[in-house]
Amino acid sequence: MSIISQDLKDKYHFNISEIRNLLQTIESQKLDFSTTELIKELKRKIEKIKSEFLSKKGIIPQLINELSNLSPDQKRELGKEINQFKNEIENDIKTINKQIEKIERKIKYQFDIDLSITYLPSQKGSFHIISIVQEELINVFSELGFFVMDGVEIEDEYHNFEALNIPQDHPARDMWDTFYFKDGILRTHTSNMQIRILEKYKPPIKVISIGKCYRRDNLDATHSFQFHQLEGFAIDEDINFLDLIRTLYRFVNKYFGPETKVNFIPSYFPFTEPSAEMSISCFYCQQNDENCSVCKGTGWIEILGCGMINPIVLKNLDIDPDKYSGFAFGLGIERIAMLKYKIPDIRMFFENYIEFNKLFSEIN
Ligand SMILES: [Zn+2]
Repeated sequence: MSIISQDLKDKYHFNISEIRNLLQTIESQKLDFSTTELIKELKRKIEKIKSEFLSKKGIIPQLINELSNLSPDQKRELGKEINQFKNEIENDIKTINKQIEKIERKIKYQFDIDLSITYLPSQKGSFHIISIVQEELINVFSELGFFVMDGVEIEDEYHNFEALNIPQDHPARDMWDTFYFKDGILRTHTSNMQIRILEKYKPPIKVISIGKCYRRDNLDATHSFQFHQLEGFAIDEDINFLDLIRTLYRFVNKYFGPETKVNFIPSYFPFTEPSAEMSISCFYCQQNDENCSVCKGTGWIEILGCGMINPIVLKNLDIDPDKYSGFAFGLGIERIAMLKYKIPDIRMFFENYIEFNKLFSEIN
């Protein structure tokens, strides 16, 4: 005996073959917007079968209900038949749904590329001159054995000032006044990275870090409230001032040319002791023109500040100053770019004047 009538089976097989035919039609034709309409119809038909046969009030649960008054043997036999039919329906739907998903994926990829869009002639882009100079400097310092590390622009007072031996009442804070937020400040120099990097890594270490800095400077041809700096430092046993001079000398020779001379003038920074300003011989007039606009006739161009890392800074970082010593230097990327590429005004870097940016498109 059988609990499922032949009529019912025929009805199901008719419906499911109708769905399969529709699926075949969709697969055989070119995918376009009408395909999505056909798929909608297909899904409606599947839902109809599901609700007719599998839903709570559907045919399958009804058939199971009919078993309740039968003997255990009949229950077992007819239950098996119902189960087989249910499995057949579920498997058919599963297979069909997989095929639909496949078609939908194809449609998605096809229509994501919009071939109808109008072609717009494109302009060849190029790197900004600041990026170019950064890259040039990274290349030179990498050759000299320095690692390159990224930095944070929003900083706390400890990393920007106190750890660098600039306590709250230090007069140098006026020079490095900055923008204050509720939770931090905009860093005034890349020297904060000395602290952040040394909190993570211990000497021996040789690192440069490049990034944006901020001060409350008024805007003019050589000052800006935003600029880029390169910070470099090296710490190891027995590092001395000569190592600093030698490193910077090699840098200027590689970057500004082998004829370049260097000159150090004593200076003051709270985080280095002793400190110096380094100048290079004017590479425009070769120290031969009293009217040179770049060196103002002095023959020298000041390019960076440097010095031996103050032992107080090392102590702040739990580095034994009796065992380790180090040097540090910081230079302004805009200043280097202005010198090397004869750019007269710092404001040109961020006015986004496209003709200015185009001037350097040949370099990269
Ligand atoms: Zn000059």
